Amino acid sequence: MQRIGLFGGSFNPVHLGHLLVAQAAREELQLSRLFFIPAAQSPFKPGRVLAPAEARLQMLRLALAGQTDCEIDDQELERGGVSYTVDTVRDYVRRFPAAQLFYLIGADHVPQLPKWREADGLARLVEFVVIARPGQIAAPLPTPFRGETLNGFPLGVSSSQIRERVRAGLPIELLVGSAVAEAIRNNRLYL
Ligand code: ATP
Repeated sequence: MQRIGLFGGSFNPVHLGHLLVAQAAREELQLSRLFFIPAAQSPFKPGRVLAPAEARLQMLRLALAGQTDCEIDDQELERGGVSYTVDTVRDYVRRFPAAQLFYLIGADHVPQLPKWREADGLARLVEFVVIARPGQIAAPLPTPFRGETLNGFPLGVSSSQIRERVRAGLPIELLVGSAVAEAIRNNRLYL
């Protein structure tokens, strides 16, 4: 049976914390495929203006270059509007009816899970995989969600911190890698 990981987020920008989540998931869950799924607009951050979809996609492509078992799925960007995980997961259930699906989330998202759209339906369709995040207590999954917690490689880096560093003129290469840092500079993002 195929084991497929789904990793949704704003990726504004993608950073090493995200890449380490992906590595932990591939190794600890023995995934056959892992999809990064950038959101058009998060329901929980309605007022937030994101870098353009094309720029976020380009940074994901640069960050994942050469990682053949990581793929990028732009369906939420194509749909536009507010991105709901249940819509995306339903699409995977249709496309991969025999696969076991795992949805990856950082520990910071666990308390909010019951507020996700169609929470009961979503909990039936997919197993949640929680990855530790420094500063976040790894709370157990609320009912009716099921899943597990990974050891991961906890790294206290966030996209907000990177955007703040860009605005402050501080280096970000070690947090996002040189290719993504160059794309941020060239596209004059987050200034
Ligand atoms: P922002 O700071 O803009 O809110 P973020 O760094 O949390 O962004 P997102 O793109 O919103 O990044 O995150 C996508 C997913 O990755 C979420 O499930 C989030 O919890 C998880 N994540 C992000 N950074 C880390 C990290 N350093 N360790 C573990 N999980 C992370």
